[in-house]
Amino acid sequence: MPNVNPLDEAACGLLEVAADGQIVAANAAFARIVDRGSSALLEMRIQELLTRGSALFYETQFSPSLLLRGRLEEISLELLTPSGERVPVFVNALLRRLDTNQEHRVFLAVFAARQRHRYEAELLRSRKEAEQLAELVRRSSDAIIRLSAEAEIETWNTGAQQIFGYSAADAIGRSLRLLFSEDAFVDLESTFSELRRGRDVNREALANSRQGHLIDVSVSLTPHMEAPGTLVAFSAIIRDTTRQKLAERALLQAEKLASVGRLASSISHEMNNPLAAVTNLLYILNSRISDPETKQLVQTAEEELARVSQVASYALRFHKQSTGRSEVNLSLVVKSVLGIYKARLQASGVQVVDESSKCPPLFCYENDLRQVLLNLVANAFDATRFGGRLTIRCRGVNRSKVPCIRITVSDTGTGMDRTTLDRLYEPFFSTKGIGGTGLGLWISRDLILRNAGLIRIRSSRNAAHSGTTIVLWFPRDV
Ligand code: ADP
Ligand code: MG
Repeated sequence: MPNVNPLDEAACGLLEVAADGQIVAANAAFARIVDRGSSALLEMRIQELLTRGSALFYETQFSPSLLLRGRLEEISLELLTPSGERVPVFVNALLRRLDTNQEHRVFLAVFAARQRHRYEAELLRSRKEAEQLAELVRRSSDAIIRLSAEAEIETWNTGAQQIFGYSAADAIGRSLRLLFSEDAFVDLESTFSELRRGRDVNREALANSRQGHLIDVSVSLTPHMEAPGTLVAFSAIIRDTTRQKLAERALLQAEKLASVGRLASSISHEMNNPLAAVTNLLYILNSRISDPETKQLVQTAEEELARVSQVASYALRFHKQSTGRSEVNLSLVVKSVLGIYKARLQASGVQVVDESSKCPPLFCYENDLRQVLLNLVANAFDATRFGGRLTIRCRGVNRSKVPCIRITVSDTGTGMDRTTLDRLYEPFFSTKGIGGTGLGLWISRDLILRNAGLIRIRSSRNAAHSGTTIVLWFPRDV
């Protein structure tokens, strides 16, 4: 029966060495590591198995410190195979004195290090990857946040700081409610059941910034589950989509405008011919009657018709190119604009104050100015349906040392709230329902800019002094 050494079954190399390095015993695993037969090993000293550097190290440091401490762990050495291949190993060593002859013996456990080197390299690489990933998250322009199962913010990156305006110190530990208004949050709340079921959730929502702005965002939530059904945390990637939304809205507005423009020009075109016909017919009628009462009726009809023509040519006109610029007597323009609204303003009990007579002439596109004033007076009229005062003032002034004409249109009407003031120049923004187009101020601002002017609006809803003041400045020498 062959003599089976139980140590041969060990996975690591085991070695017994005399004080001078003579190998006394070696198991099969060690023989495999150094690629030699077990019996051949018993003829050798361990130094012969070491590379030159390792042999030197063995003699000068390994042995002396082993003698000193009695044990050594995780020492790395290099062994040589007969073909000259170097095998890196880790060695644990133990010094024992044999009772019988007081001789020292060294017991060595030898582990091939290749595998371990590979693990270490792997570990290093994955740590580096994790660091790179963390850096990516830190610097992302999207908000990437980790939250507890109770929606408490646990991490906060640069993107989150940029989008929401809170620093990490401000945000960490707070609830997700910090970022989402009640309504939006209710919506998010309903998504928690989805998260608990382990599903991702993607939503569009309105978020609040620290400065109190509303931000359009897209939110992607990913649950982190432990056992099925146990939500331990979740992560949120939040992207600011405000710009994208604005662009989409602008595109939509542009499309709406184009169709309104087409509609308006076709209506005014269709209206002009019958209007001209009726105007002529009324003129003929007027010349054929002598009864003063009937004549008065026809004249009223003519006046009303003139108003319809005005509306057709002004209100429905879209950016029709004005004829060239000229010296314009603003007082005359103001008079003609007020003329159009005279009857209606009177009927509403609005007192009209016209302080434009002393205004110097302005070099501008006359039709633009007429259109602007018409829009402003129309708005003032709408705001003073139950009486009040409308004042138009035109003056030559200096604004930042530049000679200007300042036109002030103020009314004591209803005034505007904050939301209206914020959205005034948006096309199609109107608080008048079907009665408004929401184009008046939007077009006016364009026309003002075309004449190098500026517009400023102040308004108050305070019951004691409600009303709106609109100030325009136009430089005189452009
Ligand atoms: P529209 O008159 O067709 O509504 P505008 O662009 O002219 O469109 O005006 C936009 C909105 O601004 C109005 O709906 C109104 O709410 C507000 N507004 C403008 N001028 C005044 C004013 N003088 N007084 C009160 N509100 C005003
Ligand atoms: Mg208007």
